[in-house]
Amino acid sequence: MVSVASDLRPPLTTPQVAVVLPLPLAGVYDYGRGDAVVRCGDWVEVPWGKRTLKGVVWGEGTATLAPERIKPLTAVCDEPPLPEVSRAFIDWVARYTMVPRGAVLKMVLTGQGAKLKRAKRTQIHFSPPDLERPRPQLSPEQATAAQALTEATEAGEFAVFVLDGVTGSGKTEVYFEAIAAAARQGQQSLILLPEIVLSAQWLARFEARFGVAPALWHSGLSPAQRRETWAAVARGEALVVVGARSALFLPYPRLGLVVVDEEHDPSFKQEDGVCYHARDMAVVRGQLGKIPVVLASATPSLESLANVQAGRYRLLHLPERHGGATLPEIVLVDLRRHAPSRGQWLSPPLLTALGETLDRGEQAMLFLNRRGYAPLTLCRACGHRFCCPHCTAWLVEHRRGGRAILLCHHCGHVTARPEQCPECGEEGTLTACGPGVDRIAEEASLRFPKARVAVLASDTVGDAGDVHAVIQRMGAREIDLLVGTQMVAKGHHFPHLTLVGVVDADLGLEGGDLRASERTFQTLSQVAGRAGRAEHPGTVFLQSWQVDHPVMKAMAQGRRDAFVAAEITARQQAGMPPFGRLAAVIVSGPQEAAVDAYVRRLAQAIPVTEGVMVMGPAPAPLAVLRGRHRRRFLVSCARNFPLQSWLGPWLERVPLTGAIRVQLDIDPYSFF
Ligand code: ADP
Ligand code: ZN
Repeated sequence: MVSVASDLRPPLTTPQVAVVLPLPLAGVYDYGRGDAVVRCGDWVEVPWGKRTLKGVVWGEGTATLAPERIKPLTAVCDEPPLPEVSRAFIDWVARYTMVPRGAVLKMVLTGQGAKLKRAKRTQIHFSPPDLERPRPQLSPEQATAAQALTEATEAGEFAVFVLDGVTGSGKTEVYFEAIAAAARQGQQSLILLPEIVLSAQWLARFEARFGVAPALWHSGLSPAQRRETWAAVARGEALVVVGARSALFLPYPRLGLVVVDEEHDPSFKQEDGVCYHARDMAVVRGQLGKIPVVLASATPSLESLANVQAGRYRLLHLPERHGGATLPEIVLVDLRRHAPSRGQWLSPPLLTALGETLDRGEQAMLFLNRRGYAPLTLCRACGHRFCCPHCTAWLVEHRRGGRAILLCHHCGHVTARPEQCPECGEEGTLTACGPGVDRIAEEASLRFPKARVAVLASDTVGDAGDVHAVIQRMGAREIDLLVGTQMVAKGHHFPHLTLVGVVDADLGLEGGDLRASERTFQTLSQVAGRAGRAEHPGTVFLQSWQVDHPVMKAMAQGRRDAFVAAEITARQQAGMPPFGRLAAVIVSGPQEAAVDAYVRRLAQAIPVTEGVMVMGPAPAPLAVLRGRHRRRFLVSCARNFPLQSWLGPWLERVPLTGAIRVQLDIDPYSFF
């Protein structure tokens, strides 16, 4: 099928063709065609300095160089061509994120592997979904939502659906129907999941429904798996691809549907290299490919809800849990009145509820979004705090097998915890301050010695296999109490889990981030949604020092809509996203003085334009990261302002010098 389509592309007739190379270069490069038959989208090998590189033909050559200075193509590869829609997508992403087109192509090429090996065909791996298997009987609401999705998929039209359903309402079952509709037409589906390593349950359900495993795409694949999957996608053989955000850049020849599950999840935002938001780019990909995009969540982002309000996206609502399960009861624990004992973190009401739950033989979960044992170690005698020598950050204490180490969560710097304070020399005065998940697990184990306690955090589990093992043991009720970071909050379905305790519900509100309230509400809803998903009702305890905060009140009263409305109003009034736009410009370098000199010049060069406001330069909150000093500008403007064409000329006015780097983040999400 692919080869038929490729024949429809007319061969280029110019003596030179323009090639994009997977290098951080904005331009296209002309190469002599000779008498080769070359079409737009063909992969070709070309000389580049002393090397041979693989690139993609983008169009006719336009070089004004003398013909003898034009180097010829080395080879035309026989991989399936890069589809036109993929090329348009690369152009779009490059323009929007303001990175060179070649850098985006590099993301597309990553999977092919540096060597030009050809992937073997392994038909076991990518067999199509079995569409004849029995499927669940959908509830009327589920059926209505599924019908809207299947109709749009069959029609092959661009539309964005916000599948807004409470946790456990069956969103997955609903979009499975759209995947089936796409597959029936021989079209590919892409499902983006926030953390593919946590998706074992999702995969099991997919297999139960379709009788085959989908193709997986994430950073944990071996080079051989990557090459194989990439080729199967490019040939259109892999009909369902489940992946992390980078799966968006695979060269699908027949993509018919994109689903972004947990669309509000911050991990869809890539913050280094090419800064992009996979949810937003999924919508762009849908528009370019004229296909439906499904954004599923129990707590959709304000961006998506504002788009629903503006009539740009369609809302599909699932207001109830499947099978009559009720949403959990939320209990706010005011820590001012119910303080935990000294040096402990679990309050009396939560401890009582934990005891009762475990006595009933049900499972419980404790959530704290902080890895390790303690976020800070200090000396009681002189007040010395252990900080990372390369970052503006405290070292986090981790304890393993009786040994304590101090670790930087930003750069990985690690040192053994000393016996003596390095500042005053006192012995035995170092104290671990505050809790991480390991400390909570320790406290719970001491309190409930018979309970089987396990910890789930990225550093307590080695690889994806370990994560699956913990989740499986939890599912098999071999764990009574699971303590974890955001890894425990995502998507899991544990029918016997009835109690969730949030150790520090206020944690995400620190820092004054634009989305702090929204995110905290989303995280708390997500973790709360793990409780009572089957016949036993669930209860959630939120420990908070700020029980009057709008987020806590909205959680306790189950008033999501009122909370969202208030947030939307506040953002609207402040001209903040999604009603205004932001861009962060982060300048970094190893020498503080050079960075400061550069940002001064950049500040002087800011074009004065009505409707654009530039804040900064200011030290970024992480003023030093991995030994680089960081300064930040934050640009804000109206939603319809041509931000990119304003930023480009400004930055070009001040050429880069020495080791200075400038990173641009359009629509920044974190402000570190
Ligand atoms: P969500 O993604 O909205 O949190 P899920 O799709 O995970 O919800 O559904 C929650 C649970 O209910 C799952 O175990 C799912 O298999 C089950 N479920 C949902 N809808 C149905 C249905 N129509 N028939 C049978 N089981 C269903
Ligand atoms: Zn560090």
